[in-house]
Amino acid sequence: MISVEEAREQILRRVRVLEPEEKPILEALGQVVAEDIRSHLDVPPLDNAAMDGFAVQAANTHGASPSSPRRLRVLGEVAAGYMFQGKVMAGTAVRIMTGAPVPSGADAVVQFEDTDEEAQKKKKGQSLSEVEIYKEASSGLNIRRAGEDISRGQLLFPADTVLRPSEIGVLASLGRARVKVIRRPVVAILSTGDELVEVGHPLPPGKIYNSNSFSLAAQVKRYGGIPRQLGIARDNLESLMAALSTGMGSDLFITSAGVSMGDYDVVKDALARKGEIGFWTVRMKPGKPLAFGILKEGGREVPHLGLPGNPVSSMVTFEQFARPAILKMLGRRSWDSLMLRAICLGDIENNDGRRVFARAAVTKEDGKYYARPTGPQGSGILTSMALANGFVVVPEDVALVKEGEVVQVQMFDWGEGF
Ligand code: AMP
Ligand code: MG
Repeated sequence: MISVEEAREQILRRVRVLEPEEKPILEALGQVVAEDIRSHLDVPPLDNAAMDGFAVQAANTHGASPSSPRRLRVLGEVAAGYMFQGKVMAGTAVRIMTGAPVPSGADAVVQFEDTDEEAQKKKKGQSLSEVEIYKEASSGLNIRRAGEDISRGQLLFPADTVLRPSEIGVLASLGRARVKVIRRPVVAILSTGDELVEVGHPLPPGKIYNSNSFSLAAQVKRYGGIPRQLGIARDNLESLMAALSTGMGSDLFITSAGVSMGDYDVVKDALARKGEIGFWTVRMKPGKPLAFGILKEGGREVPHLGLPGNPVSSMVTFEQFARPAILKMLGRRSWDSLMLRAICLGDIENNDGRRVFARAAVTKEDGKYYARPTGPQGSGILTSMALANGFVVVPEDVALVKEGEVVQVQMFDWGEGF
């Protein structure tokens, strides 16, 4: 048996960062930039007003107070998006709106609240020809300097940066419509088994629905890949070989089922004929049987991950092995899951020295995390995943976790109320 870490390392060694693609910035959300992003302009491009008020020469306001206002002649008005054509000189002011470029000659903006703007508006209800300044302004007051957010030539995002909504916004503020990012991996998903029926069809006796295809495709999507559901291959060589061929255009091939000891050898046979495949037993529970190798056809090589068929096992092994592989292909530098220390609210047994991933509902109360195992932990009990947001990780050498003990939890979901 090999450890979870050994299996993960061997898989990651055979998986490469994918090549870049160029796309509209919004579509690149969650992807990794493949070029250093520099600014070719200043943001904001010009000094502009941070407040609605009057653009003035600060020197003209010295000593101003409500009892001793400074009276300035108003030359006109400038709104955001326009340039004021004149110049502010001694004894004058320009009415200015937030975001409007500061007229030449002015070096401060006095906000309306520190002028008689309100009082005059009430009296006349029309634009002012003169304004009284009630407060001394220092040079630079209420002015956002050109380039204070981003300066021309600045390195904003080195290649490697993950594009979140904030980065998408910054790209837009530079005027960029497109960006070069590492492309998303296409992940083929093939279920195997004579017992499987596709959703949306009646269920004949002896059959079960093909749920793995959907839980796995959803996991692929969640971690940034593009799932390609290939449907069901039957437990015979022809069906399997044909189905494997249909997925050779993908970047990662995931099959579910057919890798455990008692299985018909056809899956193993088919995989072996298609490339180099290793069948592993991994020291973990659930998810002991695992296959990994490279499928080959017509010069193409696709890494293949053969996950166990049990619905919980396939999801748990996906989380441990497929998720890091997808994140690596996406150009991410880190694929560690969020780990927490939590107080366990139930006993967990580990009777055969494997690493147990027990499904648990993790909550936070008074600054502490609690992990409550979600009932029966059989690897066929998929609702134990649905009720959980994390795995209590019981080390190989711990035979029993007692209620109340502190445990490590690997989170696969987090959010509200947490
Ligand atoms: P196997 O690895 O083929 O021995 O399958 C292990 C268990 O997982 C069996 O009970 C299968 O019926 C079940 N199983 C296999 N494939 C799927 C699937 N695609 N969806 C749901 N259950 C499955
Ligand atoms: Mg089977």
